[in-house]
Amino acid sequence: MPCWYPNANSRVPYTRTQPPRLQADVVLRDLLELPVEQHFRGTAVHEAAHAVLLQSLGATVEWVVVRPYTELAGDEPAGENSAVYDMYVGDLLTCLAAGERAESRWLGESGLLTPVRAYAVELLAQGDRDMAGNLVRDLLGRELTFGVAVGEAFDYQSAHDAADAALDRCWPAVIAVADALVAHRRLDGEQIAALSAHAH
Ligand SMILES: [Zn+2]
Repeated sequence: MPCWYPNANSRVPYTRTQPPRLQADVVLRDLLELPVEQHFRGTAVHEAAHAVLLQSLGATVEWVVVRPYTELAGDEPAGENSAVYDMYVGDLLTCLAAGERAESRWLGESGLLTPVRAYAVELLAQGDRDMAGNLVRDLLGRELTFGVAVGEAFDYQSAHDAADAALDRCWPAVIAVADALVAHRRLDGEQIAALSAHAH
């Protein structure tokens, strides 16, 4: 069972990756140390995983957009989606965790995964983890935990494990959708469903 490390100086309170020694002024996205094309593909894989899992669990995905970080205006996100869902909280957390788990998996398969990059992927998923924390608070009336109540819907380890298992099944679809996002930057739900159906 992986253990989770506390992050004293971060808005992401726990990571599965041991926090590396970093310069205080390091910019988060620079931690990935990837050329913009590879950084963009990682973002596409992350967003594709959210979308494919949301659809597989019954959500209606309206659209997904990705942008290279060199083209972001203001605090525009590198990736976002619009989806309508009525889902069990554990499934929602699985969809949220799938983004960071897919990004790490893709880095690993590409020979690009280092401890610092694994750590950066977790920190860059702060928005997803904040949303998971809010869902657990609002729907279950408790705080999100990390690796202390594995198997419970309120523990993010459970979401990671469920996301990893789902990605084992859906990986060709995630890669097909990510490739299309890199090419087109925006896909609607029907396009994502069609790409998933034809990916093996
Ligand atoms: Zn995400």
